[in-house]
Amino acid sequence: MSKKYVYMFSEGNASMKNTLGGKGANLAEMTLLGLPIPQGFTITTEACTEYNQGGKKLTDDMIAQIDAALANLEEIAGKKLGDPENPLLVSVRSGARASMPGMMDTVLNLGLNDISVEGLAKKTGNARFAYDSYRRFIMMFSDVVIGVSKSKFERKFDEYKEKVGVEVDTELSGEQLKEVSEIFKALYKEDQGVDFPQEPKQQMLESAMAVFRSWDNPRAFVYRRMNDIPYEWGTAVNIQMMVFGNMGDNSGTGVAFTRNAATGDKAMLGEYLINAQGEDVVAGVRTPLPIARLAEDMPAVYDEFMMLSNKLENHYKDMQDMEFTVEEGTLYFLQTRNGKRTAPAALKIAVDLVEEGMITKEEAVMKVDPRQLDQLLHPAFDQAALDAAESIGKGLPASPGAAAGKVCFTAEDAKAVAEAGERCILVRLETSPEDIEGMAAAQGILTVRGGMTSHAAVVARGMGTCCVSGCEEIKMNEEEKTFTLAGHTFAEGDYISLDGSTGKIYGEDIHTVDPEISGDFGTFMAWADEIRSLKVRTNADTPHDARVAIDFGAEGIGLTRTEHMFFEGDRIMKFRKMILAETVEEREVALAGIEPFQKQDFKGIYEAMLERPVTIRLLDPPLHEFMPHTDEEFEALAAETGKTVEELKVKATSLHELNPMMGHRGCRLAVSYPEIAKMQAKAIIEAAVEVSIEKGIEIVPEIMVPLVGEVKELRFVKNIVVETAKEVMAAKGKELKFLVGTMIEIPRAALTADQVATEAEFFSFGTNDLTQMTFGLSRDDAGRILSDYIDANIYEVDPTARLDRTGVGALMQMAVEKALPVRSDIHLGICGEHGGDPSSVEFCHIIGLDYVSCSPYRVPIARLAAAQAQLTDPRETRKH
Ligand code: ADP
Ligand code: MG
Ligand code: MG
Repeated sequence: MSKKYVYMFSEGNASMKNTLGGKGANLAEMTLLGLPIPQGFTITTEACTEYNQGGKKLTDDMIAQIDAALANLEEIAGKKLGDPENPLLVSVRSGARASMPGMMDTVLNLGLNDISVEGLAKKTGNARFAYDSYRRFIMMFSDVVIGVSKSKFERKFDEYKEKVGVEVDTELSGEQLKEVSEIFKALYKEDQGVDFPQEPKQQMLESAMAVFRSWDNPRAFVYRRMNDIPYEWGTAVNIQMMVFGNMGDNSGTGVAFTRNAATGDKAMLGEYLINAQGEDVVAGVRTPLPIARLAEDMPAVYDEFMMLSNKLENHYKDMQDMEFTVEEGTLYFLQTRNGKRTAPAALKIAVDLVEEGMITKEEAVMKVDPRQLDQLLHPAFDQAALDAAESIGKGLPASPGAAAGKVCFTAEDAKAVAEAGERCILVRLETSPEDIEGMAAAQGILTVRGGMTSHAAVVARGMGTCCVSGCEEIKMNEEEKTFTLAGHTFAEGDYISLDGSTGKIYGEDIHTVDPEISGDFGTFMAWADEIRSLKVRTNADTPHDARVAIDFGAEGIGLTRTEHMFFEGDRIMKFRKMILAETVEEREVALAGIEPFQKQDFKGIYEAMLERPVTIRLLDPPLHEFMPHTDEEFEALAAETGKTVEELKVKATSLHELNPMMGHRGCRLAVSYPEIAKMQAKAIIEAAVEVSIEKGIEIVPEIMVPLVGEVKELRFVKNIVVETAKEVMAAKGKELKFLVGTMIEIPRAALTADQVATEAEFFSFGTNDLTQMTFGLSRDDAGRILSDYIDANIYEVDPTARLDRTGVGALMQMAVEKALPVRSDIHLGICGEHGGDPSSVEFCHIIGLDYVSCSPYRVPIARLAAAQAQLTDPRETRKH
């Protein structure tokens, strides 16, 4: 039997998302549930992959299966595609596994041509409707399938409306819309040099292929990259009978969420437009009405809609985002999916659903995307600054948070301003998928048109970016790059501020501050903590960072970098003197001047952490990083050391390395200058002893040796540390347990982990360097190279942000497997940036690390990711 590429809606169900895509699987599920769904069929994601990889052709087998499904649909509908008297019209809709709002293009009203449009007009007695559908079809097909830009059609449409003196599309008559479709066809011919195609079957196949190809377009790549969606998933195509919201005043189309997607409140949030079709609501063609108005306009439809949407929410046990159409008083559902939501809403909904008895705590923990928690930690306005400011206008509170920055009018400008390190607000009439990178770069987004479910609103909420939409008082001048609001004119580069929670707009730069965290957060995170086995530590170099991290739930410090401590105040001068010392004695004198500061810093950290574990890394970076840069710095150092500026410059040059990342750094410094390691060990142990005595606790310092590639290097440094510790403890009259371990960040350390483990009491995977060295790709230069690699689809994600399981991960796993037989109680952790990335956290769980360590603000993300890794671990027999 040949492979099945096509499924009728009645053949699928919600569990088939991988094959049918999210939209197709849910259309099938709703069909099973008995909801009013216009019927149709789905061409599988596998067909997409084969199409894109197989020379962009549909195979004969695929076409035969599509033909059979179409015949089946024609039977169900009682009409035929392209029939001159009673044509079947269909939509061609994309639908990947994970919803990608606005990324893929839909063609509506397919099946119309110069003949069947007349048939439709006659059959319905509604020429206005028939030609409204036809002009839409010509535009969508030309744009999506052929690539004639929609804006060209929209310009013609606007010109026409102006010529005949109407404001909105609904005021045009059938005769006028017929003229519009003629104008559109002429535009097509002018652009393409051939007549607008008239063969419906061919149009259908062409559209399906265009959907497949849209998986390959640049904005789809951008969206997937931002949302971690793999290329190989592909998109399905849904061919569905049309229902019409544009048949008159008893028809309409809308979108709704079963709960408030911004706050999580249990109240329906929706919008609709009368006598409209498809994307009209989200595109901001006219300003939509709130769903509550439907209760007055069409009470029976409203009741049915509320009943069925409730049924959907209970069935999916989650907040639903639905699309519906009313055709001459009859309700149809066109789509449902678990709705996108802000982080506060995600937490509230998860907690509420548990309290309502709909789901378990474990299910709740799986419902929140860890990366989303980031939003909770985003800025709000400083209250005093906000009170002092006066709002100059108001739009819809589309995506919460606060933002202030320079006005930009295009996505490109926003990117440029962000790249220059400045904050910006993207101001647009409305946004479209092409704007996505600019939206990601901006602090906030302001649109003139569009409701709470507009492209701008949905995308901004997903990104956690502040957004105010639909501020129609704004007079926009896109050419001149200015806009006017409440009598003020703003030009590019002027500052404005947005409050995405109230919709207010301010004509000035208002100071923003960190947000407060709700009770739902605590409840939810406590569930995650109960579930996870992987511990979460933080990377913190100061007592302040350590305290912030504890508030976010950190259970220890996985990495304290000591080098930052040398830059403060006059310490750098002392450190430079140490570097310039000609003899061991001179160096020891200089180091003795630094030691009290180091000890004080370590005491501060121990006092913040108390008995929680603290890992301190010995000095890591190449020494030349500490040398003076400016002439003034050289002069100051010359005055201090009695050397000449010339002598100092010669020394600085001698320290210069061609490849410092692989140069004189890490434990190599301790090999050349054992005094440095000795001073640091003394400071670490003294600090621990003193704080232990003062607080009446037992601190167990963990001393970490960086950049080890050979066990003898580690042994060399460890001896210094152990000897020093003995001396300190003898002098202080107090014994403390302490650990000496190493970073695994040079591939050779992983390859010889069985040897390294004979000396190391713990391993901490330094995956920043380990990735750099495994890929042979310099961290400092990777940016440009990686963006080319990602554009060329050689790498799908940046391996410095998400752990490469195949290569770097294999080294990690090998290190773990080699170390455990040698030292069964070895502590295993990770302290690279990957420790706060959910996919990398999952990998750390899988290979059996004890903890991950990440920056303080990512601690909640890691806690949740660790719980999810536990819940999805196939080896766990579920305790719950
Ligand atoms: P997206 O994935 O971008 O939301 P959709 O495939 O859902 O795109 O379609 C875009 C719009 O067209 C939606 O508003 C949807 O409700 C509408 N639509 C799609 N198919 C039909 C149909 N068969 N009948 C009526 N409206 C449809
Ligand atoms: Mg949709
Ligand atoms: Mg390193």
